Amino acid sequence: MKNLIFEQCHRHFNDIVAIRRDIHQYPELGFDVHRTAGIAADALQALGIPVKTGIGRTGVVGDLEVPGASKRIALRADMDALPIQELTDVPYKSKIDGKAHLCGHDAHTAMLIGTARILSELQSNLKTHIRFVFQPSEEALPGGAPAMIADGALEEVDEIYGIHVFPLYAVGEYATCPGPMLAQSDTFKITLTGRGGHAAFPHLTVDPIVIGTQFVTAIQSIIARNVNPLDSAVVSVTQFHGGEANLQNGLAGAALNVIPPSVLIGGTVRTLQKEVQTRVRGQLESLLAGLANAHDATYTFDYQEGYPVTYNHEPCVTTAVDTARELVGEDNLIFPVSPILGGEDFGYYSQKIPACFVMVGAGNEEKGIVNMCHHPQFDIDETSMIYGMALLVNLAML
Ligand SMILES: [Zn+2]
Ligand SMILES: [Zn+2]
Repeated sequence: MKNLIFEQCHRHFNDIVAIRRDIHQYPELGFDVHRTAGIAADALQALGIPVKTGIGRTGVVGDLEVPGASKRIALRADMDALPIQELTDVPYKSKIDGKAHLCGHDAHTAMLIGTARILSELQSNLKTHIRFVFQPSEEALPGGAPAMIADGALEEVDEIYGIHVFPLYAVGEYATCPGPMLAQSDTFKITLTGRGGHAAFPHLTVDPIVIGTQFVTAIQSIIARNVNPLDSAVVSVTQFHGGEANLQNGLAGAALNVIPPSVLIGGTVRTLQKEVQTRVRGQLESLLAGLANAHDATYTFDYQEGYPVTYNHEPCVTTAVDTARELVGEDNLIFPVSPILGGEDFGYYSQKIPACFVMVGAGNEEKGIVNMCHHPQFDIDETSMIYGMALLVNLAML
């Protein structure tokens, strides 16, 4: 079976590369993925697969029905790009300024189209119904997955599988793990307000920069002293703004003799367990409240919960691992991989039904393909798409 699957993947490879490059050149953001969704819907329809469009606003769902089958598995691809300028020199570089497929969702869409083509040809060998799920807006909160689920994308589905190209692993490698694999990823926005004034008279002010920097230092102790060392968590402050300098001009023209009335602080919290998330969130606010109170300042604390944990269930993990092992052997299987504190809206599906998410190696050091997802020079070794399709096809044939 392995040889047949790889043979089919190789046969479709050039077409799938062409589809990926086409999508790559015309990236679309969030729910605005009309062109990409059109490509997916047309491809399924051309195979005679009944298609529903407008699922989760701009998503596409197709069902390959198999006579006599009782089980249905779903295979999911995301279709959206990122609002980043691409800085590669590839001939299929993004033609749209400020938008680019720098997370590989173009490859995910192309691979799921390829998988549908191969499975249509092998339909007589299938024992389960297959649902192809193309979703919008993985990159932007609130995510496309909740909208897809609300519109019935998981109805009558027993298990769901998703893949992600990952340049930190080499082409031909797969990585997954049981339990939590990707993090709950939350964000926080804080306004800390004191009393501004003349920098030569600090005693007449409540200096939010001094309080804010104490807060940033203090939260470093949350991970070190409030989270069990065996659990995982990250708190990163990614924004700290005070005063009115124009960041583009450095500090040219900035009022260096004024203590500002307030500062803005923002960042992200990544956790793998609900109790850890609750603990970190609580500690953040109590440190903020304590410091503000001690210095006569006030604050607002806006904590936004992001995508839930992507949780890999049994028996899906065993199925995925057995499938991967059959394709590439034990040596090319990274299992169990350590969980990653990145977020994925595939987590929503995994909260609803048994699921497994698998990283597909897409890096190639010799070709200089080493940049991580979201890097402006991110790219994949396109050969990885053979392995992505092979995994999905093999999963669907069980
Ligand atoms: Zn991404
Ligand atoms: Zn992604």
